[in-house]
Amino acid sequence: MALMGQMMAMPLLISSLIQHAARHSGETEIVSKRCEGDLHRYTWRDAERRSRQVAQALGRLGLSPGDRVATLAWNGYRHLELYYGSSGSGLVCHTINPRLFPEQIIWISQDANDKVLCFDLGFLPLVEKLSAQLPGIQHYVLMSDRAHMPAASSIPNLLCYEELVEAEDGHYCWPEFDENTASSICYTSGTTGHPKGAVYSHRSSVLHAYGSALPDAMDCSSKDVILPVVPMFHVNAWGLPYSSAIVGAKLVFPGPHLDGKSLYELFETEGVTFSAGVPTVWLGLLTYVKSNGLKFSSFKRTVIGGSACPPAMLASLMDDFGVEVIHAWGMTELSPLGTLSKLTSKQLALPVEQQRRILEKQGKVIFGIDMAVINDEGQALPWDAQSSGNLVVRGHWVISSYFGEQRSPLVAVDGQPGWFPTGDVATIDADGFMQITDRSKDVIKSGGEWISSIDLENIAMAHPAVHEAAAIACAHPKWDERPLLVVVKKPDAQVTREELLAFFEGRIAKWQIPDDVAFVAEIPHTATGKIQKLKLREQFKSYRLPSA
Ligand code: ADP
Repeated sequence: MALMGQMMAMPLLISSLIQHAARHSGETEIVSKRCEGDLHRYTWRDAERRSRQVAQALGRLGLSPGDRVATLAWNGYRHLELYYGSSGSGLVCHTINPRLFPEQIIWISQDANDKVLCFDLGFLPLVEKLSAQLPGIQHYVLMSDRAHMPAASSIPNLLCYEELVEAEDGHYCWPEFDENTASSICYTSGTTGHPKGAVYSHRSSVLHAYGSALPDAMDCSSKDVILPVVPMFHVNAWGLPYSSAIVGAKLVFPGPHLDGKSLYELFETEGVTFSAGVPTVWLGLLTYVKSNGLKFSSFKRTVIGGSACPPAMLASLMDDFGVEVIHAWGMTELSPLGTLSKLTSKQLALPVEQQRRILEKQGKVIFGIDMAVINDEGQALPWDAQSSGNLVVRGHWVISSYFGEQRSPLVAVDGQPGWFPTGDVATIDADGFMQITDRSKDVIKSGGEWISSIDLENIAMAHPAVHEAAAIACAHPKWDERPLLVVVKKPDAQVTREELLAFFEGRIAKWQIPDDVAFVAEIPHTATGKIQKLKLREQFKSYRLPSA
């Protein structure tokens, strides 16, 4: 008979993260730019006490374990308290992306069966518009103080967050329960159809926080000052509210102020060392910093993910500003981190140019995640940097099913079931560095051969006149599809279609060079700041390529 281990079985609970931070980094600050306009500061110790008061207040509203507490809020300390106060007390925190269309917000909230909706001051008009269509919501909580409450509002039972919190004494013990209990729910942004809910557990969230803080992942420590630019409504700000608590880092929340100037000022005044966000955010920040001839004095490294980080952006941050870029790949279904690109000791000896090619990849898995690339028959492909296939993953923080769906999304690899198909197409090299070629639905299929839209975008983004670029498939009578490059020029920059197409020569195989360039004033983005390829393809549906 097997000998069983004789160790304590302490459940992995989210409340333990903030208790740890309060006890061991109690003096460390959490600074928030508030919706009200001012800067708020307090400590992890204060945050834990107030999270207990939030737990008490939510209990007093009559919620029972498993009930969903929805938020429509920017990054800030009250949002953090709701994260911990709801999950920590056995409720489920449901962060809603306020940038979604109102119909999507209604759909998501009804699907999740939200009981309470807590929202920032700036979203009062939005919630007033929506509340009539949210019959399931029993309580609306405005995340502000009495002075900012509206004199009159169409919202039924509108409560004041500060009043609710201050009415509680904080004499509350975080309950202990099964670590597999749901802690939070996030919806995919719906770029591929109806949004779907990913229900995280306490166990998966704590393990994700542990893993993502590791040195070869986000490398977080108590010496860091972390500013998550990635919103707390975008896959829990990639877990940073949890991993910061584990390591006891100072947190800086930008609130709704995400423009280049506001971010830069906050980076400088608070001594931010580490940040994370999607490429479009860095586009804005870099434009501001460059056009004003500024430098960063404390900013050391950043995680960029959510969509491919253009090599030109990586080079600019590293060479012009000395900021280390950690390119990461993940998705809502993975809580979200799967892989990050950091050089191994062997690679440190390589010439810089070769190192750059490695850092541009999406990187290696964190321990706890397993990956493979497979062909359409479900056979694993070799890790040779060449064989491109469907990327599948499994691990401690990967969903096994979607909220409310009976059908399992999982597939088999070489006959072994239990792998989650990501919908991404990728290669893996012999060192285990994964590189995304495309999302399977964004790949451009020309005469049976695949052209990576990401490759085309990366080249275009390296042209000095290009602010943003997207490559999409355009119908072609002979080749089925051919690439069309959609470009937003930098303000005042001059470049012609011919010059841009000539820029591709020698940088990619000739047959992969786009057939045409369309200059536009703006490229549509999803609610999480990614290029909306679906919309772009619709926009150019009847576009006739000159070669067609
Ligand atoms: P949605 O799928 O609804 O847009 P997610 O934020 O979960 O929301 O998106 C995950 C997808 O984003 C991945 O499947 C992948 O296609 C893309 N992605 C994320 N990180 C990267 C990256 N570093 N490079 C390329 N694509 C990425």
